[in-house]
Amino acid sequence: MSRCGARSHVVAFGATKYTLRFAPDASGTVNGPVSRALHAGGGGAGATDAEATAVARGRGAGGAAAEAHADIAKRSPTRARLRLHTLIVVQRAQTVTRLRVLHRELAKCRKCPKMIGPVVHGPPVPSRVLLIGQAPGPHEGKLGRPFAWTAGKTLFRWLEETTGASESAVRECVYFAAVARCFPGKAKAGGDRRPDPEEIERCSSYLSREVALLEPDLVLAVGTLAIEQVLGEKLKLDEVVGGVRRARYHGRDVDVIALPHPSGASTWYKLEPGKSLLARALRAVRAHPAMRAALAPPR
Ligand code: SF4
Repeated sequence: MSRCGARSHVVAFGATKYTLRFAPDASGTVNGPVSRALHAGGGGAGATDAEATAVARGRGAGGAAAEAHADIAKRSPTRARLRLHTLIVVQRAQTVTRLRVLHRELAKCRKCPKMIGPVVHGPPVPSRVLLIGQAPGPHEGKLGRPFAWTAGKTLFRWLEETTGASESAVRECVYFAAVARCFPGKAKAGGDRRPDPEEIERCSSYLSREVALLEPDLVLAVGTLAIEQVLGEKLKLDEVVGGVRRARYHGRDVDVIALPHPSGASTWYKLEPGKSLLARALRAVRAHPAMRAALAPPR
């Protein structure tokens, strides 16, 4: 079945068979927010916000799902919702499997001679929220997870104070990636070396595949390098932190919320206007529908 082509799925409710028709939406993919599909279902489906949010945690079923849902919801809205939910669970499982394959490739990657392994990445979370940092520091490789040291403590504190979600909840609900997945070593002037353009380019092939698999709605770009890579331009933190921008990233239209790097190497976020802009950015993270859906309690 082609990822981008129209497809159909026959389901049986008792003795009656229905055909769910899935077709590409405007973005050319078959996955769109199911919460919209549920709300648009009509026919008395009447999905509640909680139901829509719970389903939206998973994979979408495309713009045509609304039409298919309307067809079947007239006769059995509960079964229609269950069927869509089942499809979503299956799609999530497929995404996890594909992310695991990608992670195995990543683990073996030795394309950059100056980089110091091991490769660091988060777990294969099928999330619509993608967090992109710069690169792991010297401790993350040993600990086997991104943002595992002091910068991570600050980042997770920011997120917990704003959203109420603990570090483990955020790690379970948000996909963690980075501009480069290996430790670049120390810079002569002190601090961690910034990945060079060739390294960024090589590692971007993994990000591109992750975007295709996850189809994120929200990208959290952490630090100036990640912000520059996601937005495609160099901007001062004062200009970019504090709001939500729209960007085309690896072929997908996404909302982008920029955050300063929490390493403490820069005091930008500790002084005004950085302090207030960071608070605004974190409020935008909390309010974003993709983040709210990602952090919604499971049903
Ligand atoms: S930085 Fe990325 S491309 Fe370079 S070796 Fe590490 S995983 Fe491979």
